[in-house]
Amino acid sequence: ERIVTGTIQDEDLENEISLRPKWIHEYIGQDKVKEKLKIFIEAAKGRKEPLDHVLLYGPPGLGKTTLANIIANEMGVSIRVTSGPAIERPGDLASILTNLGEDDVLFIDEIHRLNRTVEEILYPAMEDYALDIIIGKGPSARSVRLDLSRFTLIGATTRAGLLTSPLRDRFGVVLNLDLYDDQSLQKIVKRSAKILNVKIDDLGAMEIAKRSRGTPRIANRLLKRVRDYAQVVENGVITCDVAKRGLEVLEIDEIGLDEVDKKLILSIIENFDGGPVGLDTLSAATGEERTTIEDVYEPYLLQIGFINRTPRGRIVTKKAYEHFNIKYEEK
Ligand code: ADP
Repeated sequence: ERIVTGTIQDEDLENEISLRPKWIHEYIGQDKVKEKLKIFIEAAKGRKEPLDHVLLYGPPGLGKTTLANIIANEMGVSIRVTSGPAIERPGDLASILTNLGEDDVLFIDEIHRLNRTVEEILYPAMEDYALDIIIGKGPSARSVRLDLSRFTLIGATTRAGLLTSPLRDRFGVVLNLDLYDDQSLQKIVKRSAKILNVKIDDLGAMEIAKRSRGTPRIANRLLKRVRDYAQVVENGVITCDVAKRGLEVLEIDEIGLDEVDKKLILSIIENFDGGPVGLDTLSAATGEERTTIEDVYEPYLLQIGFINRTPRGRIVTKKAYEHFNIKYEEK
């Protein structure tokens, strides 16, 4: 399993609950998102109404599920958690919706993966808190409308563009989570270390932060791995040097890149002369799925300026050539 991926893995589930911030003031970074949410939450509470439906989008591991739980907590309601692929039939969703308590939150992760017939149940539910049920078959079939309790739908997805427009248009609040900066990740590492009872200094936390690809889930994972290293090989305290040596053992370089990134970038350099190369061609050349390249690998490579998107495809920048010690020729 790849260490530096934002996608959830089994080892992340250990301590998952204790590491997860429960209130908005504990949620580090994403200041713009927090500022908006605080206002919407206060306004909804003041009106004694459920919060408007919220769409959260951004790469895996940035805190979408965490934020959904925080919203429910701050609103003082319960949350029901499910995901697009888990809801197979319209009846499954109808049963979830009818079992929600007044003003509760329904969180649907990977909401872009709902199938069309299930998605259509959501439209009247989101708009009018209603379920339209067809009774009977053929010419005698008729539609009956059932009232639901008021609720807040929180949907999460990697890219807003993956949603159909009728679904996207029904969210009153659309929030984009960005990759975190190093300072925020350093705070997250220090907070997690405190919860896990791990001794770490500021520079040790920064060293882990810099290799976490802007992603809290990766930061927590690296912290746990470096903790093990520090405990077994060193004296248990994570300093800058201990973090460096531990991360070297894990084969993660000083900016969080591993063999998969290297393969991707070298493939563009060697096979396509640095690009431009289309996503589908790149996917075929590397054997990685198009959506994985786009949603998991690329956001960080774009953020650090190793790859650029052009209308004709992806190109590798001079910065990336230099990082991998390959001679760059101006085109
Ligand atoms: P997503 O749903 O976007 O894939 P999660 O909400 O599951 O991501 O977050 C992954 C982990 O990262 C969480 O378990 C949580 O401990 C941590 N985390 C995410 N965002 C933050 C944050 N802003 N502050 C502190 N920890 C965070």
